Amino acid sequence: MKRRLREIFRGWHRMAEPAPVDADQLPLEEQRLQDLSARIRSGILFYPVVWLLIGGIIVIKSPSQSKLVMSAAIFVLEVAITAFRFHLLHKCAGYTHFHHTRQFRYIDLGVALSALCWSAILLSSLMNTPFREHYSLIITATLALSSGALINLSIRKQTVRWYLIALYSPSVIVLSLGWADQPPGLGLVFLFYCLAMYHLTRLPRREYERAALSNLQLQEQARRLTELSNNDALTGLRNRRYFETTLKQECSRGQRLNYPLALLIIDIDFFKTINDEYGHMVGDHCLRHVAKVISEEFLRAQDTVARIGGEEFAVILPGMNQSDAMALAETLRRSVYDNPFTVEGTQRTVSVSIGCSASVHPHEYSPASLMKHADQALYLSKSKGRNQVSFIETKQ
Ligand code: GH3
Ligand code: MG
Ligand code: MG
Repeated sequence: MKRRLREIFRGWHRMAEPAPVDADQLPLEEQRLQDLSARIRSGILFYPVVWLLIGGIIVIKSPSQSKLVMSAAIFVLEVAITAFRFHLLHKCAGYTHFHHTRQFRYIDLGVALSALCWSAILLSSLMNTPFREHYSLIITATLALSSGALINLSIRKQTVRWYLIALYSPSVIVLSLGWADQPPGLGLVFLFYCLAMYHLTRLPRREYERAALSNLQLQEQARRLTELSNNDALTGLRNRRYFETTLKQECSRGQRLNYPLALLIIDIDFFKTINDEYGHMVGDHCLRHVAKVISEEFLRAQDTVARIGGEEFAVILPGMNQSDAMALAETLRRSVYDNPFTVEGTQRTVSVSIGCSASVHPHEYSPASLMKHADQALYLSKSKGRNQVSFIETKQ
């Protein structure tokens, strides 16, 4: 009991300065926020609706002007709080980045407001007011309403705590001080109910966290698998499969939006001699080195750099025409040549031959045609002596 009170007090303290959440817990907290918001959205409307029923029953059962005025005033207050809570939820959803502390605070504020309003109803039935004679109906409705609400809120401990404190603590205090018309023992019943409910929500919360975590892990694994199936293991660049799909997509997009599309095929010159001279391990190191130089040269997010064969790379350049693509290819060729890779403590120069093709007119877009012409251009570069850039225009 003492520990529980200390825990409640600590929770109160933390409301002002909430504890930071571990970085690896953030996805779970983000998921919790989304789920809690969805659960709350469906529960908010319950308060005015339930009061409409209870207030209606009270007024119909034993009508009086004071009851009618009080019921109507409470209903208006409930509707206003409901509208405000929807506004708070909207504010939460409006954050483009995850600000869990502030967003959870908005949620807790809304929950506490509804609970406080209902707490005033409960209190009015326990004291000398026109609702006094209906106290059993109001207590029953309060217990039923809060049990339902706690099922919804159970996925977050702090929200459960604030809800119970806001709803029951005014009545417990008033009853224990003897200011109410009902016996103080009722305060003990409320207190026991709060502790029991607080304890009971632990199990569904743990089950929720376990399910949410395994769901997040599955999503992460699926993301990693997709990444693996799209990337080349040796160089980290996109692989041939990804390249082919992207080229097809870029062709149809370029055609639809009427913008040019260029393709480069890059082949390392005399790569076999590197393998023969130094072995395959050094060959692999050379491949990684060239891949790094190429990817550093193409920094636009829309460019796709892929390894499409042993020592062959390709770059898709959406929006680039022939002259731009040729200039870029020339820069790249020079960059590879000017950046020798280190082997056995010495610098070894490596060069690449590049074939370039580009589609300009809408009817010229076709992956096969772009590939064929870039390949022919590459052959031209090789036959002209390597370490060259050549271009062949794409025509259907
Ligand atoms: P060229 O200038 O005409 O392009 O000559 P080249 O030697 O670069 O071309 P060739 O096609 O004769 O040789 C390519 C070599 O690339 C043959 C193959 O053993 C090697 N190779 C292919 N994939 C890998 C790889 O993943 N790692 C290593 N180390 N070598 C590879
Ligand atoms: Mg080669
Ligand atoms: Mg080759």
